[in-house]
Amino acid sequence: MSKVFKRTKILATIGPAVSSEEQINELIDAGVNGCRLNFSHGDSETRDKHIAWIRKAAEAKGKSIAILQDLQGPKIRVGVIKDNYYEVKKGDELILDHAVKEHAGDNILPVQYNLAEKVKIDEPIYIFDGKIRTHVAEIVSDTAIKVVVENDGVVMSNKGLNLPDTDFGGDILTPKDLADIDWGATRDFDYVSLSFIQCADDVRMLRKLLQERGSTAKIVGKIETKKAVESDETLEEIVKESDAIMVARGDMAVEAGAEIVPIVQRKLVALCRKYGKVSIVATQTMGSMVDNPEPTRAEVSDVANAVIQGADVVMLSDETAMGKYPIETVKAMRKVILYTQNHSMMLPLPRDPETDNHTYDALSAAAARLAENIDADLILCQTASGATARAMAAQRPNLPIISVTPNQRVANQLGLMYANSAFVRPYSETYGLDLAKELKDSGYLQLKDGKEELKVVLVSGDKDKRGTDTIKVRYV
Ligand code: PGA
Ligand code: MN
Repeated sequence: MSKVFKRTKILATIGPAVSSEEQINELIDAGVNGCRLNFSHGDSETRDKHIAWIRKAAEAKGKSIAILQDLQGPKIRVGVIKDNYYEVKKGDELILDHAVKEHAGDNILPVQYNLAEKVKIDEPIYIFDGKIRTHVAEIVSDTAIKVVVENDGVVMSNKGLNLPDTDFGGDILTPKDLADIDWGATRDFDYVSLSFIQCADDVRMLRKLLQERGSTAKIVGKIETKKAVESDETLEEIVKESDAIMVARGDMAVEAGAEIVPIVQRKLVALCRKYGKVSIVATQTMGSMVDNPEPTRAEVSDVANAVIQGADVVMLSDETAMGKYPIETVKAMRKVILYTQNHSMMLPLPRDPETDNHTYDALSAAAARLAENIDADLILCQTASGATARAMAAQRPNLPIISVTPNQRVANQLGLMYANSAFVRPYSETYGLDLAKELKDSGYLQLKDGKEELKVVLVSGDKDKRGTDTIKVRYV
């Protein structure tokens, strides 16, 4: 079977809509490259099942699939509301109390987090994805605050709160996150993402916790707070400290205003390319397909624009987790990606004195130009740590990158990297070309019309650990 190389990857959230071995298989066949387990929902038993199904499917298909543990972070929610309905009017006062466990039907609402320790008078608090706007009027006790409602609305159970101006002072991990990190470190995760990070220190803290627990997962910084997007310096620092970035457009719009989202997205995708990090464009990419079998024109355009900008990954949330058409959504997204990549060109990065002196960047830039100039069939990376493949991907060559590594974790992580198809083989001097030959013989790599050989640009590093140092042109 011949393979169509989709260069922008698809990350799908796993949930009730695809909760069977068969559906996970279908999802991967439809074009999914990574699966996100959202730790805001679900239980560990179900997650273990999901991980096992994904790994089994990936192995059977010989495909590298990344699994992402998405930590909830300080996504603060109200508790259970009596009859799941509490109407508020402009000017009403509400008490948000962490010590209250049950809502009695009055204006005292339970919250899953002790806001009294973090908020200051006059700071805004948005309830229910920004639908109800309030501000802090008083710290009532060690566990309770009083807020004044600014518009009419309805509070329902477990709806999220956003605190755009509240400084968590580097203390964004909740006890739940810490327990989830402990659990995740004993499981097969390739990436861990942390929600609502405010600065690069939050990423450093997570990295330390993962290292202490022996985790080899890479870190995805989710950009969604007002603090994170407020200055270009903070954004750039977070990108440098992270291994990947999620443009978390849902909460970002609530916290900082929907109008800033497209520009922040463009900045983040460019920064990720500059520093060789994985960029993930998330939320509402195909939102209407939760209920409909076809995307809207605006959604198609949104995904196409992410591809044109050079995003590594486009993400699906509710569409695959709880939508009516999870498989159709992935197929529709894949179609948009393929058409767009085949009718647009990624341009080389402008010269950047800050990064050009790194040998691997200069080498990968040269390899990408060479491959395009000689009309190669593919770029082949021998990559033990993934660094060579990462540097190659950052050049956004307009042709497939086949990577070979002896390390399964690295291959899974490359699953989310632009244009990379990663394979695990035991290390040998010739394992790159051996793989190319194998993939040619199996029909996975096909010859161009009238050609008898594959033209390959082989990029590799020496074993002395100095990184990428060799470019060869080979015929397979
Ligand atoms: P979430 O993150 O789905 O975990 O909230 C993505 C977003 O906020 O856009
Ligand atoms: Mn979010």
